[in-house]
Amino acid sequence: MKFISKFLASVAMLLIIAVGQSTAQNSSTIKNLLNVKDKQYDANRDSAYLDPYYGLKKLIIGNLRFAEDKSVRPRQTDNDLKNAGQGQTPFATIIGCADSRVPNEIIFDQGVGDLFITRTAGQVMAEASYGTIEYATEVLNTKLIVVLGHKSCGAVDAAMKLPANPPGHVVTLINAIKPASLRAKQTNLVGTDALDYAIKENVIEQVNLLRGLEPVLSRRSESGEVLIVGAVYDIETGYVNFIEETITSLAKFQSKR
Ligand SMILES: [Zn+2]
Repeated sequence: MKFISKFLASVAMLLIIAVGQSTAQNSSTIKNLLNVKDKQYDANRDSAYLDPYYGLKKLIIGNLRFAEDKSVRPRQTDNDLKNAGQGQTPFATIIGCADSRVPNEIIFDQGVGDLFITRTAGQVMAEASYGTIEYATEVLNTKLIVVLGHKSCGAVDAAMKLPANPPGHVVTLINAIKPASLRAKQTNLVGTDALDYAIKENVIEQVNLLRGLEPVLSRRSESGEVLIVGAVYDIETGYVNFIEETITSLAKFQSKR
């Protein structure tokens, strides 16, 4: 009996190590592609606005500062807010969840004028969201779009449970997330693992939707002028994990794979 429990404990330990390594490998692939060095905590703002790859790098580095307790809270003083009347040049558009635990400027350690944000539960998008994102692209010249899901997402969890009579307009959210939740149900995963799977699938689905959205984003995304990528924020660790396939599928990195 004792032997069996010892054996099971070592198997569990190996599994934990294997999962940990695959997560680390994912992030190092992305860091290598984007030339982000370990313990690099700074990236220039103007370059981020001009070059979306640099914008992506800036978000990764800003999140590292936040997750590793090194936030610098740039451009967040009262004066920064009051002096923002001359216009805006946000370097990234974030399509995020409305969840109160995912404040975008804080988790990416960015400031006033840096991020153009639309937030709905489960980051489900509709006509007004598309117009908002297209405005950022066409009028503000923002070249980076990040679809940001997060762990423990209540909207995705609700879609997994497929309630019979969701109240009011909540049914819109559930229907939009349903394809991802159904794919999660087709796996052998259960509990949190199944939810995490659905959360990631939902983000990938939304990235693909935006990449094909006529008439503005499909054109800009195909020509490489605008980058559309996906990520999942881990509420417990503070790290934003960019989804590898949404980065490696970018034209610039296809030849390097
Ligand atoms: Zn959520």
